[in-house]
Amino acid sequence: MSNLSGIRHADPLSVLEVHLDAVARNWLSLKKRLKNGADCAGVVKADGYGLGAAKVAATLFEQGCRHFFVAHVDEAQALLPLTEDDKTAASVYVLNGPQGAAAKDFVHHGLIPVLSSMEDIRYWSQEAAGSPCVIHIDTGMNRLGLGPKDVKALAEDRTLLGGLDIRYVMSHLACGDEPDHPLNTEQLELFQNLSSSLQRPMRLSFANSSGIFLGTDYHFDLARPGCALYGINPTAGDNPMLGTVTLRAKVIQIREIETSGTVGYGASYRVAPPAKTATVSIGYADGYLRSLTGKGAVFINGVKCPVIGRVSMDTVITDVSHVTDFGDGYAEIIGKNQTVDEVAAQAGTIGYEILTSLGKRYKRVY
Ligand SMILES: *Cc1c(COP(=O)(O)O)cnc(C)c1O
Repeated sequence: MSNLSGIRHADPLSVLEVHLDAVARNWLSLKKRLKNGADCAGVVKADGYGLGAAKVAATLFEQGCRHFFVAHVDEAQALLPLTEDDKTAASVYVLNGPQGAAAKDFVHHGLIPVLSSMEDIRYWSQEAAGSPCVIHIDTGMNRLGLGPKDVKALAEDRTLLGGLDIRYVMSHLACGDEPDHPLNTEQLELFQNLSSSLQRPMRLSFANSSGIFLGTDYHFDLARPGCALYGINPTAGDNPMLGTVTLRAKVIQIREIETSGTVGYGASYRVAPPAKTATVSIGYADGYLRSLTGKGAVFINGVKCPVIGRVSMDTVITDVSHVTDFGDGYAEIIGKNQTVDEVAAQAGTIGYEILTSLGKRYKRVY
């Protein structure tokens, strides 16, 4: 391959552009959908769904977001700058609960654990008496949260309940992205019943991204959108959200196929002349999932080029027989030609997994 092909050797191999303005607009549009008085949080777990939690959280904070959810206590580290000067400037909740660090460290950093079992609640009462917490009720997902029996036990234990500084009582939808699923209304009713059985008036949090689109009954006091902030479609219809990433990887070699042969590991794909292939600098180590083998496509200068042969660790091979102009020499993986949800569909997964798998080797541009 010579420079005559137009390949610019010094350019980065792959570039991930994160459009923080789009994240901000997505948050504002979700907030606008909420019923009067409801707050809109930002879920920034898993490093802001792969986009970068510190940058995303700072962007949302600027727009007025004051509630942030992470999954692991360590993920809260990225958010500490928000509350450096004033511990009350924002609330940071830890979904997976008061585990992974000592209770005193949660308290020291002002982190609010989501308590999902009676064991969690007793632990927090003993180790961090009077420090804020969230109580998670399970209403049908059977993942985390107090079941009906636990809620009854808590309601009856006035000393335990009375000693807790409960910021929110929350639950989580299992099928929010399927508006007609009967479990949605079942969970809603159970949430209303169980939360009211705790007697004290409690602030409530129920909706994730999809839940926001199920209607105002689902909004309560605090919504917890994640995926929609990042442009993943939270609805069953057209995507009302803006895409937030552009991912491009460089064409590092173009091959004219002069004799019939195979492409990639396992010799699983056969090519015959006349054909032209391009090797693109992205692979499964970058989060371009191996399941995109035989399913994926990239866009070169706006032309769709199917992935041929197996996705390898650092490269994919694409059929560029019909590409005449390689433009800037990059293949678009995610962007205006192809959404995260489309790549996910090709890979047989969901947009969440594509974003949270995004690799560390990209040059990141915010
Ligand atoms: C991840 C998560 C969210 C955000 O869900 P999205 O579907 O990404 O909007 C909200 N609540 C809980 C408990 C979660 O685990």
